[in-house]
Amino acid sequence: MYCPRCGTQNDDNNFRCTSCKQILHDAPQPARPVQVDNSIATLIPYRNGAALSAYYLGVFSFIPFLGIFLGLAGFVLGMKGRSYVIAHPEAKGTVHAWIGILVGGFFGFGYLILTIIMVVALLQKG
Ligand SMILES: [Zn+2]
Repeated sequence: MYCPRCGTQNDDNNFRCTSCKQILHDAPQPARPVQVDNSIATLIPYRNGAALSAYYLGVFSFIPFLGIFLGLAGFVLGMKGRSYVIAHPEAKGTVHAWIGILVGGFFGFGYLILTIIMVVALLQKG
């Protein structure tokens, strides 16, 4: 926590400020529910639906063939989630959006390219 008198950052367990010896625990604490809410939002960005969906689509995009659709959807939603966090930083979800973009993009485009190569190879055979 920050010392209310001099602003020095102190360990939460410190009884007195390390800099000015101000007693810290009489100072008003910041509202606890907001902090808890923010850590949940970091873990599960429920206020950023696009980023959260992108994360799950990205995670399941390893499934062959189905992964083309899941991955590309994850990629697009990840981009949406990214711009949503930039506009609303309190919504969180940057990591989830990036997982959607990177993992979804990797498998989505990877399987798409593989499928195209396979189709081309099959057509050339015939
Ligand atoms: Zn102080």
